[in-house]
Amino acid sequence: MLILLVLKIKILVSMILSKIYCNYIKIAYGQKIYDLYLSEKFRPLKLLRFEVHVTDHCNLNCAGCFHFSNISPVSFLDIKQFQNDCEQLSKLTGGKCDRIHLMGGEPLLNPSLNENQKVIRNFNSYHRVNTCIQLRNGKLYPCVPVAYIDIFNLYFNKKLIVSKRDFIDIYKVKSIEEIFRFLSRPIPFCRYCNIDATVRDIDWSITKKEISEWV
Ligand code: SF4
Repeated sequence: MLILLVLKIKILVSMILSKIYCNYIKIAYGQKIYDLYLSEKFRPLKLLRFEVHVTDHCNLNCAGCFHFSNISPVSFLDIKQFQNDCEQLSKLTGGKCDRIHLMGGEPLLNPSLNENQKVIRNFNSYHRVNTCIQLRNGKLYPCVPVAYIDIFNLYFNKKLIVSKRDFIDIYKVKSIEEIFRFLSRPIPFCRYCNIDATVRDIDWSITKKEISEWV
């Protein structure tokens, strides 16, 4: 009985893994096979899209900022690092990219904004100043808070851990598909996120820089 159960689980896992690149996966339950719809978040991208903080800090000071820009020290993108990262991603993608968002923080606070815009002209992509995927210092993160949690940790003296399985190093991958596979999976850092307790549509207010704005 136990062997049968282990076998069923193995088949189920292999089915999930082999079908993970489709919008649907087939699930065996009892005597029947079901199609399980994968949400967009879990479907690998076909073209890369990402955001990059041109400026970490922001002068607007919104309460509960997900980019932690309201508690960030003054910090600008390292243009040389960004240039190298873009060249590496351009090699991996053949220069094709869906979207690149130059973000912050407040991008307009960066005196080198024009230079940053020139860097991404290597890509055949739509881009604008102002996707959850974050490029930071040669690493891609699938969501915003994990990429900038060091700002939160520093400000509130916390130790939320970012492990090597929470990001993908763009200089260590062999193909863009490897990146797409990684970006379609949950990461260990997801354990810190309590979606059910998230309060949305709050009225805008100036931050009091209190931890209760985030937790
Ligand atoms: S404008 Fe955006 S980046 Fe700036 S503090 Fe508000 S939410 Fe954060």
